[in-house]
Amino acid sequence: MTFIYEMLPSRVVFEAGSFSTLTAEVKRLGCGRALLISTKGKTALAEEAAGRLGALAAGSYHGAVMHVPVEVRDEALAVTRECKADSLVAIGGGSTTGLGKIIALETGLPLIAVPTTYSGSEMTSVWGLTEMGRKRTGRDARVLPRTVIYDPDLTRTLPARIAGPSGMNAVAHCVEALYAENANPIIGLMATEGIRLMARHLPPFCADAGDAEAREGALRGAWLSGVVCGSVGMALHHKICHTLGGAFNLSHAETHTIVLPHATAYNAAAAPEAMAAISRALDDMAPAGRRYDPAGGRYNPAGGLYDLAASLGAPLALKDIGMPADGLDAAAETVAGTASYNPAPVTREGVRALLEDAFHGRRPGG
Ligand code: NAD
Repeated sequence: MTFIYEMLPSRVVFEAGSFSTLTAEVKRLGCGRALLISTKGKTALAEEAAGRLGALAAGSYHGAVMHVPVEVRDEALAVTRECKADSLVAIGGGSTTGLGKIIALETGLPLIAVPTTYSGSEMTSVWGLTEMGRKRTGRDARVLPRTVIYDPDLTRTLPARIAGPSGMNAVAHCVEALYAENANPIIGLMATEGIRLMARHLPPFCADAGDAEAREGALRGAWLSGVVCGSVGMALHHKICHTLGGAFNLSHAETHTIVLPHATAYNAAAAPEAMAAISRALDDMAPAGRRYDPAGGRYNPAGGLYDLAASLGAPLALKDIGMPADGLDAAAETVAGTASYNPAPVTREGVRALLEDAFHGRRPGG
């Protein structure tokens, strides 16, 4: 095996209660005028942070929404300039981190991320911006958060209906990292451990967000998923999710949850080592009597991912999250026409069959 491995430089502070280190982390970057960014729903937490920062807080913007529309970027940029911010603090899920990244891209200001979901965006240099219904993405070192504060206590308020799909989004990053074009041994270890942590800790977290061990384990899995997503390229699964999300405005994390088992089944024969790693990682959560059996393949990795999502009470069918049946043909066409690297060849017919199964929520592998 030959490979090139590059690490993205960022500082990670991981501890229950580490939100309290925010002031020290802003000062550590040599900054004294932080702009606090959040969604409307996380206004109280952002204001709590502003209170802690005191004179180091220059202003707030609470209008972050999914996929960073240009209008939101422009509004947030105006606030950034008005308050003469010298740093950005994004407190929330991938939507909030995404807005922080776009402002960092435009201004060059350093970004501190305080993630409260499992999106993993905080560990990547990938940005996204939506204009006239089309999302553009790119990579730029300027958008990588300089510091990430992971405080598992901040996920305590995550309801299972958000935590489950968000966690499966993290699992999807790990699955695709295992068979990425530029996969490598270190990323493989992290990806396998990311799946294992999620499989072990997400179900108890979704049952009881008060479970401190589950909270910490799941957030550790999300960190690893972000690292792997930021380090290697993704494949067919991510291409399908971005196509569906952009064209039909489907929930990002729920789309990942539903498509992942089917994309995994699609690639199963072409990526046997990745499948074995997924199965080993899922073994922790396999119900008694259904442990992975490499010979019989009874507990296949794709079926295992479907079972994991089902155990979280997450949606399993595209038809249940707003996907129109008459959009499947066009989606298959777009995916097949624009897909880049994938272990198994991407054909229009193959993707159409995959989407049909995902639309109805069929369990791959029986
Ligand atoms: P999100 O940030 O939109 O959050 C989902 C919902 O959860 C929101 O309503 C939010 O207010 C709420 N929420 C967040 N934290 C909470 C908490 N602790 N308690 C209660 N509610 C909470 O969704 P997401 O799935 O985290 O992120 C999705 C976005 O991130 C998409 O735009 C996606 O494209 C992007 N993303 C980017 C990358 C990247 O590398 N650039 C990676 C993954 C995802």
